[in-house]
Amino acid sequence: SISYLNGEYQPLSEARISPLDRGFLFGDGIYEVIPYYNGKSVGLMPHIERMINGLAAIEIKCTKTADEWKALLDDLVARNSDLAANLGVYVHISRGTDVKRYHAYPENVEPTVFAFTFPIKDPEPVDRAKVTQYSMISTEDLRWQRCHIKSTALLGNVIHFQEGYSSGNDEALLYNADGELTEGSSCNAFIVKDGVVITPIQDNQILPGITRRIILDSLRADGSLKVEERVVTMDEVRNADELWITSSSKEIAPVTQLDGKPVGNGEVGEVWEKAFQIYTDTKYDF
Ligand code: PLP
Repeated sequence: SISYLNGEYQPLSEARISPLDRGFLFGDGIYEVIPYYNGKSVGLMPHIERMINGLAAIEIKCTKTADEWKALLDDLVARNSDLAANLGVYVHISRGTDVKRYHAYPENVEPTVFAFTFPIKDPEPVDRAKVTQYSMISTEDLRWQRCHIKSTALLGNVIHFQEGYSSGNDEALLYNADGELTEGSSCNAFIVKDGVVITPIQDNQILPGITRRIILDSLRADGSLKVEERVVTMDEVRNADELWITSSSKEIAPVTQLDGKPVGNGEVGEVWEKAFQIYTDTKYDF
């Protein structure tokens, strides 16, 4: 596949960065993953805006405009269109390569900009009987207090994901020290209770997921389901009728097992099907 690195296109296997790159040494960078289905992106501009906000939050000076980012990423996808019909684009900006390993932000260092594409699955069917079901474990969220920044420093997330994986589950569902739901180790989370779709408030404890945003906006525009953003306790999660996890690669995935017990009646819920239909009908508008 063709990758982009600091203005040059080259085979991914040939792309090289310095071991003194601060992304490598400190995880000092921001990243995004954007899905393209048959060349059409989902949430491209919101992804780019989140990336620009993240760069500003950690004072990485990257002068590309949103339109320049869009052109770059669309172009990279076009160059890789022979790989697969559906591609994810990974884009990563680190603070750059310094001449020494020193914590303070270096002056006059150019950020490292790297992007590559990889094949992604077809969207799941909007069908309760056919969609892939997820199982999770719950565990206390031991990441940092800046989870709203999409940092490349993912060790906290990786450790939590592994807790889920090594216990034979697909993901880990995280809660804070007050027993309140935050998110999954690589996804946002929603519950459904008595027909109401509920997701935790957007604050420093969770990533501002683009899929989360698209779901909230499209469900509100549609108007047939009630939607709430508020604190969600783990007691509520355990008594929920449905549990969903959301991300650019999973879209809206139904979770039917949590800590070895069925969620609701243990089957994919009818609210999932309605919400996923609405999302599927409108996702390319974002
Ligand atoms: N939360 C975390 C920790 C993530 O890593 C991700 C995505 O990878 C998400 C939420 C979902 O974000 P998005 O919908 O923008 O992909």
